[in-house]
Amino acid sequence: MNCNHSNRSTFTALSCGIALGLAGISTAAPLITVPWNGHVGAVSFTFDDALETQVLNLKPLLDAMPDVHVTFFLTAFQDRLKDNAAGFAALANAGHEMGNHTISHWHLTDETDEELEEDVVKFADTIEATMAKYGADVKVVSFATPFCENGDHVKTIIDKRHMLNRDCTYDGARTFWDEEPDWMSMPAKIWSRSGATVNEMLNALDTAAYIGKFDNSIPLEHPITGGSWLIVLQHDVSERMIDNYAINPDDIKTLFERAVKNGLWVAPIGTVGAYQRAHFIFDKALMTKTDDGYKVTWKVPHEYMPKSVPLRVALDTSRVDSKAVIMQDGKVLTPESDGHYIIEFMSKSLTIKTSKEIGLPPKIKRNAKDYTKFTIFDLKGKKLGDANGFKVPESYPKGVYFIRAEAKGLTPLTKKISR
Ligand SMILES: [Zn+2]
Repeated sequence: MNCNHSNRSTFTALSCGIALGLAGISTAAPLITVPWNGHVGAVSFTFDDALETQVLNLKPLLDAMPDVHVTFFLTAFQDRLKDNAAGFAALANAGHEMGNHTISHWHLTDETDEELEEDVVKFADTIEATMAKYGADVKVVSFATPFCENGDHVKTIIDKRHMLNRDCTYDGARTFWDEEPDWMSMPAKIWSRSGATVNEMLNALDTAAYIGKFDNSIPLEHPITGGSWLIVLQHDVSERMIDNYAINPDDIKTLFERAVKNGLWVAPIGTVGAYQRAHFIFDKALMTKTDDGYKVTWKVPHEYMPKSVPLRVALDTSRVDSKAVIMQDGKVLTPESDGHYIIEFMSKSLTIKTSKEIGLPPKIKRNAKDYTKFTIFDLKGKKLGDANGFKVPESYPKGVYFIRAEAKGLTPLTKKISR
């Protein structure tokens, strides 16, 4: 088995653990990250361009909503960082994220390496220094491309100084828990007065929370089978109807309220991104036996992660008794009211104290016979009927079809089948 395979699902992690466990080296830890910090899904509202209206009109709304934390992508274009620094520092101190949106707000794909170094790499330090001057301790970890213009070379420069980058991609784009996204090109849904209506944005927030009917979602796209992470791109917060990218304060308040009501994790892109990115590492972490228990260690995947990345994890009590004690940085962790533990991912290790052996992980395999429902679609995504396995029935005309396989607890699998 190839344990470095690109399939980053939990199944791979567990199976790799078994292989190594049998070899007598180490085995997968009996801990697994709870998706989206215990919420059904997540939403990150991001506000670009360091606009004054974000301080004047948005800050009072945010101050009244303790469950809502957002990201601001700052730029020095037209002296905006300097002019609004005190307001953004106050927002940072209230728990909102400050990210990098370049000095020039120019087309990065046209820039020389020297220009990229200034705009992308050094400006992250400038934002931190400016915020510090106004009393806010900020670590910049997130970037957003101006005009969403990106490319392979630009990505490598962004990656030198940031854990993730937000682009725009396409409307309705979502990020799924067990599929590692391109961290240097995160998708976002863009608000504009001429584009998304408030109702469309509310629907997107319902979809992220898995509220609605999704039986007919197109198999060529990702079928909606649970909650997901939605990233939203905003600019001005004002009633200026002339500005296509502005959103009325009342409307953004309506979106925030729906997100909270839907039980979504409403958190900055850097917070949700670090949590999800950490889980791909932590859920594969191996443990080794010590004198009085086990030690679990892992690596941090990027130099520019937030200073603290608290992970909500569940203990697999089929493998270890619930009386086991989890310790980190010399302290005993007490479980939350729901039985989960909050561990610090940035500490890179933890110990499990138990007098008993920890059992091996259950063997989980994914193959055709694990799926219980097979549905046939045509190439346009129109549902045609049921199938028995990945086989197009004889009664269908010759041609190419898609078959989507589903089962409870498994990620759906879609295959192109010709007959
Ligand atoms: Zn911009």
